Amino acid sequence: MTAEIISGKEVAKTIRAELTEEVADLKQTRGIVPGLATVLVGEDPASVSYVTAKGKACDKIGINSFQHNLPADTPEDELLKLIDQLNNNDEVNGILVQLPLPGHIDENRVLYAIDPDKDVDGFHPVNVGRLVIGEEVFPPCTPAGIRELIVRGGTPTEGAELVVVGRSNIVGKPVAVMMLQKKDGANATVTVCHTRTRNMAEHTRRADILIVAAGRPRAITADMVKPGATVIDVGVNRIGTTSSGKAKLAGDVDFEAVKEVAGKITPVPGGVGPMTITMLMKNTVKAAKLKP
Ligand code: NAP
Repeated sequence: MTAEIISGKEVAKTIRAELTEEVADLKQTRGIVPGLATVLVGEDPASVSYVTAKGKACDKIGINSFQHNLPADTPEDELLKLIDQLNNNDEVNGILVQLPLPGHIDENRVLYAIDPDKDVDGFHPVNVGRLVIGEEVFPPCTPAGIRELIVRGGTPTEGAELVVVGRSNIVGKPVAVMMLQKKDGANATVTVCHTRTRNMAEHTRRADILIVAAGRPRAITADMVKPGATVIDVGVNRIGTTSSGKAKLAGDVDFEAVKEVAGKITPVPGGVGPMTITMLMKNTVKAAKLKP
């Protein structure tokens, strides 16, 4: 039987509609309008398009967006001064510094300068620590989106064998930590695979839930998947160009073959991708609500 497709576009639409209502309610009941500041240094085309998409998402939901576009040769000190101003600006609830930063800037120094209570990307060590000890405040956006796709997609997580392929700080490690917490929508038995894992297929074939964030097309083939499993494909790989000149994208999972084995599967594009910005919006609204 062919797998059910979990549409990230649809789940994201539902969550954005919920957030629009929450924002309207916050304005009416507490007179608060959440604000997100985005900081872009340089003109990398992919970064420009991400920041533009974030601004548009804010507009639609009713979040104020403050965009700071700085030249590529901005000195680190100047960027740190801007972060300090944003930390002290009451209209700004969330701060997002678009990565990567130019080579002359120490990325960690900048990210660690953000007030942890405005760190809506969830990359500050304080928020990473809160996540690990089960006191999640701002879960990192892609892992949070993955969790929503699993839970809202109707896959039970309690006691499930959950295998993550990939151990990066932005996807693999945090999603593994989130899914093993003693909480609803988690409580899974988690295994993390990486390039030094022996016999990866032995692990992936046990998975009731398989999350793949390797950045390698076809890293997961049909023979590596348990029949009926839920497969979340995080990978975004350019595998050529379409006839209209656009980038042709593929995930890390051999979608056509795996969808004949899996119970549920996310597509690429249209799976995890649309969830990431949505979860950034969710964290920004949460930051506004948490503000004393
Ligand atoms: P990354 O930093 O390159 O990490 C990849 C991880 O996968 C590493 O831990 C690596 O192991 C492991 N790996 C690579 N090839 C493997 C293989 N053949 N078998 C087992 N493990 C393997 O990548 P990332 O930032 O986590 O991103 C992963 C993918 O997700 C990329 O395609 C990226 O574009 C995509 N992504 C999508 C979104 C979204 O919003 N949709 C967001 C973030 C990332 P080692 O540690 O041993 O090297």
